[in-house]
Amino acid sequence: MTSRDSQEQWITDPGGAGFAHTYLVDELLYDGRSPFQRIRVIRNRDFGRMLILDEAVQTTERDDFIYHELLCHVPLCTHLGPERVLIIGGGDGGLLREALRHPVAHATIVEIDRDVVDVTKRLIPSIPGAAFEDPRARLLIDDGIKFVHETKDRFDVALVDSTDPVGPAIGLFSSEFYGQMARVLGPGGVLAVQSGSPIYQQDLLSMVTRNMTPHFRWVRRYVGTVPTYPGVLWSFTVGSQARDPAAIDEADLTRRLASIPTQYYSPASHRFLFAFPPFPAAP
Ligand code: SAM
Repeated sequence: MTSRDSQEQWITDPGGAGFAHTYLVDELLYDGRSPFQRIRVIRNRDFGRMLILDEAVQTTERDDFIYHELLCHVPLCTHLGPERVLIIGGGDGGLLREALRHPVAHATIVEIDRDVVDVTKRLIPSIPGAAFEDPRARLLIDDGIKFVHETKDRFDVALVDSTDPVGPAIGLFSSEFYGQMARVLGPGGVLAVQSGSPIYQQDLLSMVTRNMTPHFRWVRRYVGTVPTYPGVLWSFTVGSQARDPAAIDEADLTRRLASIPTQYYSPASHRFLFAFPPFPAAP
């Protein structure tokens, strides 16, 4: 935390090597260390309660819907009839909350750090809502890489809601992991991952595309604007076996979302999300 004057505390989330987003700490609600990372919850007058892991803002009360809707509804609507959902990471529960709005049979979430789940449920309850208590939800505290290698379960859609590729999250971006994912997803499967900033993490974005391509028939990138992720413009990558995520009919999406009102993602916007800016170098 840095101090601008003796009264104010500010917290800094570094983006690339030379810039950062900075937030006023109106209240420090939690500051603890789990076996995996430092966990903080602050209250900021513009973004409400914010979850910060190590230095990186993960989600906030004010803008969580943007990221979670994009990472959830694009792949779930790409699948022809998703019943079994797997989430890797995502311990704040926001993605689980969105997935359970679909008529799925069950959703399994594999989060490595129990403290992230407990702290978010206690201090930012609007993000998970009642998702962890839903009878269709199964929470496993485990390494997602190990789980995907070992599981005999099969899923229709998998969502990787990971921290940046450091520490236990590194393997979540590898070709081997995506290959294992393709195995547990089967012939109609859809996988979506957050793939970083297309501005200052182009290497990461290229790596995700490169590593996913051998395992999925279609691999498509899409973008959204997440105010609290450094640089704001954020990329997602979706791999699909049965149909092209970028070519889904608006009428089909409208039918699928008829009873799922959204605040950022919409059937009309779907196609435009895939109009990925041409500036990042191809894979
Ligand atoms: N939306 C966020 C972002 O992009 O900044 C990610 C949020 S979510 C809280 C990220 C979670 O991934 C963290 O809680 C972290 O503990 C978890 N995680 C990291 N590596 C993991 C692994 N190998 N298996 C399961 N969970 C993992």
